[in-house]
Amino acid sequence: MEKIKMNTPLVEMDGDEMTRILWQIIKEELLLPFIDLKTEYYDLGLEHRNATDDQVTVESAQATKKYGVAVKCATITPNAARMKEYDLKEMWRSPNGTIRAILDGTVFRTPIVVKGIEPCVRNWKKPITIARHAYGDVYKGVEMKIPGAGTCELVYTAEDGTEQRELIQQFAGAGIVQGQHNLDTSIESFAKSCFNYALDQKQDLWFATKDTISKKYDHTFKDIFQEIFDAEYKEKFDAAGIEYFYTLIDDAVARVMKSEGGYIWACKNYDGDVMSDMVSSAFGSLAMMTSVLVSPDGYYEYEAAHGTVQRHYYKHLKGEETSTNSVATIFAWTGALRKRGELDQNKNLSEFADRLEKACIQTIESGKMTKDLALITSLKDVTVLNSQNFIKEIRATLEKM
Ligand code: NAP
Ligand code: MG
Repeated sequence: MEKIKMNTPLVEMDGDEMTRILWQIIKEELLLPFIDLKTEYYDLGLEHRNATDDQVTVESAQATKKYGVAVKCATITPNAARMKEYDLKEMWRSPNGTIRAILDGTVFRTPIVVKGIEPCVRNWKKPITIARHAYGDVYKGVEMKIPGAGTCELVYTAEDGTEQRELIQQFAGAGIVQGQHNLDTSIESFAKSCFNYALDQKQDLWFATKDTISKKYDHTFKDIFQEIFDAEYKEKFDAAGIEYFYTLIDDAVARVMKSEGGYIWACKNYDGDVMSDMVSSAFGSLAMMTSVLVSPDGYYEYEAAHGTVQRHYYKHLKGEETSTNSVATIFAWTGALRKRGELDQNKNLSEFADRLEKACIQTIESGKMTKDLALITSLKDVTVLNSQNFIKEIRATLEKM
């Protein structure tokens, strides 16, 4: 069989530990035999980040702006223990943070739904994608403990020196206070990324805040979304037969629980933090969750939602067998290949991505899976496979297809 050609390279960001091992096997077993794979390779493994003073991360993000589509392996975010383990020159920033700062995007997380791994919520039939705004609010909050009676105010001093004041509280005794902010530009990027992604996925978009209580702060989010939608997206949504829908956050939560799924739920930073953990654990497993960074300019970076699976890697280093689930990492590749195919009008490439995803799902649904899934599946007659054999089994399914 002739290999599928690629016109434009993908930006390939290699990573760390167990996911780096899987990365290599996925390429050898599932990609290189079928595709004339073109990538521009960046090694984001911690050793190489350290050797390049983290320049490689910056360069990989810039390459993503050049080519439009990247696929990323999970990477270590250094902490004190990693400083020692890898003898680092500096505690380098989280690569995802660096890349996001350069591409300015929103992260969309979607569960991979298979028969036999049922969501805890019975009526959820289709995946729910969470889009979390990744800037500001309580994550950039400034806080103060108020020791006793006194006045607390918000003060804004314009560049020309004029002041605007708002009383927060006339404290009669001790208390606490918090200042939060966000930026119109960041909310606009967030909104555009969400609208673009909804069009891309042909799914409805929900957005919710607490604008009835927060009449300026949350209301600004609501207004910016609506203005951008009306001006730039309404017609496109109509043409695609999808809907943008705003409601109060408490109403959204109630509706989500009663829904069938199959839409994108945009959340403010804190809501997204909380709701993505709720939705992902209710769908089954972090190892079955994909993640894509979508920039407002239309650049895409695909990855798995989980980390480098450190515990499994140490077992692997000791020569012990591991049963690490590679599905989310495979779906990072298929997401990137499909998008590359769409942008290049390379139908063969997009169809290959669809087929590989089907092969993963069919393999699991036939009862062949890794240990994490075997522990939670409702299927009978399950065969638990090790990391390598699971990927080989997917290859066998793919070849049959
Ligand atoms: P993790 O790699 O997500 O793994 C946590 C645990 O979840 C594992 O020990 C394993 O449980 C289970 N698990 C996760 N993915 C799995 C998979 N594919 N197959 C089977 N089980 C899986 O999180 P972590 O151990 O807290 O973090 C390790 C490193 O990853 C850290 O250095 C962190 O900085 C980094 N990280 C990177 C990213 C990213 O690049 N996007 C995201 C998160 C964390 P059992 O051990 O019980 O089997
Ligand atoms: Mg969290």
